Amino acid sequence: MKELICITCPRGCHLKVDDDLNVTGNFCPRGAMYAKAELTHPVRTLTSTVKINSKVADRLPVKSARPLPKELIFKAMEEINKVTMNAPISIGDVVIKNIFDTGIDIVATKDILK
Ligand code: SF4
Repeated sequence: MKELICITCPRGCHLKVDDDLNVTGNFCPRGAMYAKAELTHPVRTLTSTVKINSKVADRLPVKSARPLPKELIFKAMEEINKVTMNAPISIGDVVIKNIFDTGIDIVATKDILK
């Protein structure tokens, strides 16, 4: 039996999952979906910052456009740390395309003028 807390919404249900992936303790179906995904193929949305050449800011906030496999998060951070962007930058601009052939881009989450 595994125990985990559902992070899908602020309610934070305490979930129990048996060896056959039967889930209890979830208030709604999303908790069961979360628990099964977490125990079989966990993913996380990655948020970070990259260096930028700009007169108004030193760092650009970025995130993965979709959740990445959890095992790639630290490797992705290493790639993000190598990047320097040039302003101007718009929300949604691609910072790293198709990181590790996942089909997922790392994108800007803020407009930076010059
Ligand atoms: S099981 Fe449903 S209600 Fe409970 S934390 Fe997850 S999403 Fe929220």
